[in-house]
Amino acid sequence: MDLMLKDKVFIVTGGSKGIGEGVSRSLAAEGAIPVIASRSVAASEQLVKELLATGRSASFIAGDLAEPSQCQAVVEQTISRFGRIDGIVNNAGVNDGVGLENGSPEGFLSSLHKNLLHYYSLVHFALPYLKESRGAIVNISSKVALTGQGQTSGYAAAKGAQLALAREWAAELLPYGIRVNAVLPAEVLTPLYENWLNTAFDDPEAKRKEITGKIPLEKRMTTKAEIADMVVFLLSARSSHTTGQWIIVDGGYVHLDRSLT
Ligand code: NAP
Repeated sequence: MDLMLKDKVFIVTGGSKGIGEGVSRSLAAEGAIPVIASRSVAASEQLVKELLATGRSASFIAGDLAEPSQCQAVVEQTISRFGRIDGIVNNAGVNDGVGLENGSPEGFLSSLHKNLLHYYSLVHFALPYLKESRGAIVNISSKVALTGQGQTSGYAAAKGAQLALAREWAAELLPYGIRVNAVLPAEVLTPLYENWLNTAFDDPEAKRKEITGKIPLEKRMTTKAEIADMVVFLLSARSSHTTGQWIIVDGGYVHLDRSLT
């Protein structure tokens, strides 16, 4: 299937590690130009170098997206480099463990800055260009928005809001032909996930085995490429009548009958 993405320009937040890295690689493989917006300078420079060396396109803009002015700078620099924006993958985030008992109102607000505010800010600043391109937006949310996790109110609230915004923006942006969808991963072994395993459990390897044993399809974690390919399909015109949807890519973890595992 030709996804018709050649030379199209997509901002991918957190696009050089974990799921974002997968999205950048899938976009580049389709001939599109991923613009990685991230604070991970070394990983981003390395990925861009690798993609360019293999004849792909890619670009990197450094910054901490929790600061709205940095989101504006990402949009301005993307336009000055490429003159267009065909879509946004809102992906950067951190499960920072701000709970009811172990947190504070200040910590909760800080978590929303790290996980939610930049989803809005980037789309807000990019909107004139998305209107021109009739672009597409994908919000990476999480199963935590649907199931809860415990001890992580800020992250859970942000993940839920990202789903609400996928619906809200799909409605607001109908007149411009801009489609908005959300993808919900559950268990993907990324640097963020490994950090959670290593800090929250005494025996991270035992916990990893326990979780993978409960994933119905093939008793394994979802790969970042499997998340990325869904995201890239949703960005492409091949999904031209899909908007306001929440797509759960998780090997059946959230919804299939528990007796199956
Ligand atoms: P990851 O491995 O930590 O990669 C995220 C990347 O984004 C990192 O390079 C990180 O930089 C960067 N980043 C984070 N906050 C940033 C900010 N404010 N400004 C600029 N860059 C920032 O994370 P991941 O596991 O791939 O997660 C990606 C998305 O998937 C998140 O929205 C997460 O909630 C969601 N998700 C993941 C899973 C999973 O199983 N992994 C499950 C459900 C949902 P640093 O390295 O400096 O932090």
